[in-house]
Amino acid sequence: MKLFRTKDLIILILGLLLSGFLALIWHFRVLDVGEKVIVSYNGEVEQTFDLHADGEYILVHPEGKNVLTISGGKASVTDADCPDRLCVHQKAISQRGEAIICLPHKLVITIEGGDTSPEIDAITN
Ligand SMILES: [Zn+2]
Repeated sequence: MKLFRTKDLIILILGLLLSGFLALIWHFRVLDVGEKVIVSYNGEVEQTFDLHADGEYILVHPEGKNVLTISGGKASVTDADCPDRLCVHQKAISQRGEAIICLPHKLVITIEGGDTSPEIDAITN
């Protein structure tokens, strides 16, 4: 008795590959979740915020101001008085290594992980 036709077998294998692939993506997604929002001004780390504590912070510098909004584990610039407003239009960031940059204000907002185990470091470095 033939249990599987070739076509069924291919679908089965593709299904298994797909679920394995999705599990892998999920695995790396979990590892990449950020913990901290780092605000750097003029190349120097200035402030650190908890990515999982919602809040709105006004970052004021001689060049102007940016409003940093942390909400639901994502950070974004919701308002700024820079001429290009590119930072306001960048999408919210939540993963390690993502960044929002405001060139006119010399401001860089990046996401970093929390307590990193050597295992996680080995993957990212
Ligand atoms: Zn800007």
